[in-house]
Amino acid sequence: MNYIEAKKRIDELKQLIIENNEAYYVFDTPKITDFEYDELFRELKRLEQEFPELVTKDSPTQKVGDKISEGFKEHTHKYRLYSLDNSNNYDDLRKWYERILKEYPNEKDIELVVELKIDGLSCALSYEKGQLITGATRGNGIIGENITENIKTITGIPLKLSSDINLEVRGEVYMPVSSFEKLNEENIENGLKEFANPRNAAAGSLRQLDSKITAKRDLHFFAYTAIAENNDLFKTHSDALKLLENQGFIVNPNYRVVRGINSVIELCQYWETERFNLNYATDGMVIKVNDLSKQNELGFTARAPKWATAFKFPPEEVWTKLEGIELSVGKTGAVTPVALLTPVQLAGTIVKRASLHNFDEINRLGLNIGNEVLIKKAAEIIPKVIRKKDDEDFGVYKEPENCPCCGAKLFRPDGEVSLYCPNTLNCPAQIQGKIEYWASKEALDIDGVGSSLVEKLLDKKLIQDFADLYKLTTQDLMQIDLIKEKSADNIYNAIQASKTPSLTKFLTALSIKLIGKETAELLASEYPTLESLKSASVENLIKIDGIGEKAAKSIIDFFNDDNNKVILNKLEEYGVHPQGKEFEKISNVFDGKTFVITGTLSQPRSVFEDKIKKMGGKVSSSVSKKTSYVLAGDNPGSKFDKASTLGVIILSERDFENLSQD
Ligand code: NAD
Repeated sequence: MNYIEAKKRIDELKQLIIENNEAYYVFDTPKITDFEYDELFRELKRLEQEFPELVTKDSPTQKVGDKISEGFKEHTHKYRLYSLDNSNNYDDLRKWYERILKEYPNEKDIELVVELKIDGLSCALSYEKGQLITGATRGNGIIGENITENIKTITGIPLKLSSDINLEVRGEVYMPVSSFEKLNEENIENGLKEFANPRNAAAGSLRQLDSKITAKRDLHFFAYTAIAENNDLFKTHSDALKLLENQGFIVNPNYRVVRGINSVIELCQYWETERFNLNYATDGMVIKVNDLSKQNELGFTARAPKWATAFKFPPEEVWTKLEGIELSVGKTGAVTPVALLTPVQLAGTIVKRASLHNFDEINRLGLNIGNEVLIKKAAEIIPKVIRKKDDEDFGVYKEPENCPCCGAKLFRPDGEVSLYCPNTLNCPAQIQGKIEYWASKEALDIDGVGSSLVEKLLDKKLIQDFADLYKLTTQDLMQIDLIKEKSADNIYNAIQASKTPSLTKFLTALSIKLIGKETAELLASEYPTLESLKSASVENLIKIDGIGEKAAKSIIDFFNDDNNKVILNKLEEYGVHPQGKEFEKISNVFDGKTFVITGTLSQPRSVFEDKIKKMGGKVSSSVSKKTSYVLAGDNPGSKFDKASTLGVIILSERDFENLSQD
């Protein structure tokens, strides 16, 4: 590339990066993926290195962050905040380490601290004599936004330290992945915009002009830097982390102190896949020289410290081509579209398929075969399609009219997003799906009865429905290829052992439309036996908080259906007897009361749910006029507001304990 071409491309890149900085930092709504942004940034850096005379002061490579939002007061940082240089390959990481080693020719290895790079937004906190004075965003590193009131609402930020010291603390404010997903669900329900990822949700929640909104969002803080006026407090970065913990901060526990670059690379490799088991987003690892005097000697560039670097993980979002749409028919006849993709590397695995949920979603995204689509893998295992390229229009995929398995004409029940195959009796996909589900972990958990065995049993006409599993003999099972006497015996015994499931499991396993495990649990806590449930009416059922009219109707329809009656009779005949009354009551204190739980409590929610149920109460997931109490922990969600609006009694954990003593 010659000088003129380089100048043109550099100007283009600067413009693109500046525009995207604004979307990301000021409006918290990125237009391109972080990976794409990093590629633009690296290209700019490469060109500037090749043509140093083209580096200008206003280049994004010479600055941190971007403009700060109007509406907040400015805060001038006492100590400047920097960004981090980053790479996405181990060669660059080794080069960074070699540059450092070169400065210390007498040392064989340098001590390094390897930390997770939390994908949130950085904040600077100032403590004077142990008291929190200000909290600010990074802004351009010199001036940030003063967000002190918002900062005070965050879990993990002490208002007062354990000692009366002056301390500057930096760390990352983040939103747990589960809270991010919940917030997006609530936003969709309320017609508000979805956040692109947990980082943007955290930034959007923290940079609110009304701190009451911030307080309602589940924000947390990991501290990762301390700067003390008193130089004697710590001499290494790892000691600073220990001090932060002693002063009441939460430091991410996954940091390690190592020597040499090979151990760093091993840790990066480990976390590249292991990070998906965490409930917070990480986009890489941060590697820092541990010795603070060495940090001082190494210093900073215009934008980042030379004594630290970041290794960025492969992207969690990537563009690929939608090559086809597969239609799968589930156990209740719902037809689900699945995206078939040009195989692509995403967060350490090759992805070929992604979820499309339903045809409304395909319409919403305006998708058709041939589109370039952005797919994403966050905490969930199955990637999903986020959007298509704005400028591509291939029309929208036409939803099918007939069942892809049995050819029956599909229908869409009123108000539902899914299309259904009506052929419940004869559609092979539905028959197989129901039998597989009956034996699955979520339902009766019958060892050895999986998809391939069910398919073969159906093929050989040894069974026609899940009730028939109970008439199978060891000899029947031995008719299946590769099943010898011992495993046939084991499968037979596992089937027989499943004859007395709890009523909840039994109801779940029946594959009744709209009735999952949670609803089955509600039904089983209200109706002690299967017989009593069978004679319930829609009116009785909708009295149960958490059961709406559609679900009630689906239950009645199920038990009135002649074919289902045949299956239920067969189950009875083969000795399958569900056991009602799952929860042994310890008192009647909460008889007839319905609870909704929100916010963070001192123990997992399941502990409170169990207690409520054992005392005769019920737990529902949404607040309505029928709700008796809302048990609210720290940082309650929108359920708290809804309860206040509806005048539902809100209990603190202590109120709850007092009430349960009555
Ligand atoms: P960065 O996020 O790559 O790295 C620096 C930041 O890492 C620090 O400011 C701090 O907030 C954070 N961090 C997390 N854990 C840390 C730890 N343990 N120790 C130290 N720091 C830690 O750099 P940046 O300047 O904040 O942002 C640039 C990045 O933001 C880009 O690389 C890109 O990924 C993203 N971005 C994306 C867009 C977009 O349009 N998609 C636009 C602008 C920026």
